[in-house]
Amino acid sequence: MNSDIRVFKFGGASIRDAERIQKVADILANYKGTRLLIVVSALGKTTNALEKVVDAHVAQTGKAFELLNEVKIAHYKLLEGLFEPNAEIYTSLNDTFVEIEWALEEEPHEDYDYMYDQIVSVGELASSQIVAAYLAKAELPTHWLDARDVVRTDNLYRSAGVIWDETMEAAKRSVLPELTNEQFVLTQGFIGSSSENFTTTLGREGSDYTAAIFSYCLDAKDMSIWKDVPGVLTADPRLFENVTKLDRLSYREAIEMTYYGAKVRIIPPLFFLIAWMPKI
Ligand code: ADP
Ligand code: ASP
Ligand code: MG
Repeated sequence: MNSDIRVFKFGGASIRDAERIQKVADILANYKGTRLLIVVSALGKTTNALEKVVDAHVAQTGKAFELLNEVKIAHYKLLEGLFEPNAEIYTSLNDTFVEIEWALEEEPHEDYDYMYDQIVSVGELASSQIVAAYLAKAELPTHWLDARDVVRTDNLYRSAGVIWDETMEAAKRSVLPELTNEQFVLTQGFIGSSSENFTTTLGREGSDYTAAIFSYCLDAKDMSIWKDVPGVLTADPRLFENVTKLDRLSYREAIEMTYYGAKVRIIPPLFFLIAWMPKI
């Protein structure tokens, strides 16, 4: 067992602005020297925004480029809070978004799900580049890994199934040598690739699943799903003031919260550790 390997996942909410990305770097600074694989989702609600780009393209509303531009502007605005104006990340991010522009210049592909995956996956490619570049700036050496080189799937676009033997083999071959005490490895949640090397996605909210895939294939010691809140609160702090942290939460109460609309998913406590971002 490679029992010292750890896997951390930071979702879109945890990296939705420059301040939170800085906070993530502060947290990770405490883990210097750890063999750590980091999985990130797209920034904030980027996936929803890219879905709208896909739909506008399919419906040929003429709004697809405009919607894409809004996504790009939000990313560049976030960069301003993290990097100097001449930083290399501006160019590499632009190159990443160009892939979508090329797709939009073509007629909509007849297979909606295929086209969706090629476009929406760019959210994670962009966010992972930004976080990796910021970690490097914060003197936390980080190897950016393309999850598509590891997470091998069938070609059921938008809900691709993992091909476990190939994924396991690729994780051992391309991740293990990079997972040293000198650098972190950072990769994207949600995305994989088919045997024809086309990008696939694992289904909405799939980044937690990606973290579990890597944890399993690397035989990790543990996996932490970080959240940008101090714990489970009495209500969503984005919607309500004066929320308080629940110090104890029974399984039954958690189920009740989901009944009343909370997006808490209950996972048997086998392998799962949820860690909380302090003081945000
Ligand atoms: P991600 O998958 O992007 O990490 P989630 O979808 O798990 O994030 O959402 C995290 C967000 O959930 C928090 O930022 C918080 O605003 C919201 N939230 C909603 N209900 C609660 C609650 N009862 N306690 C804590 N956070 C909550
Ligand atoms: N970005 C993807 C989504 O919003 C995956 C995830 O966040 O888990 O569904
Ligand atoms: Mg999520």
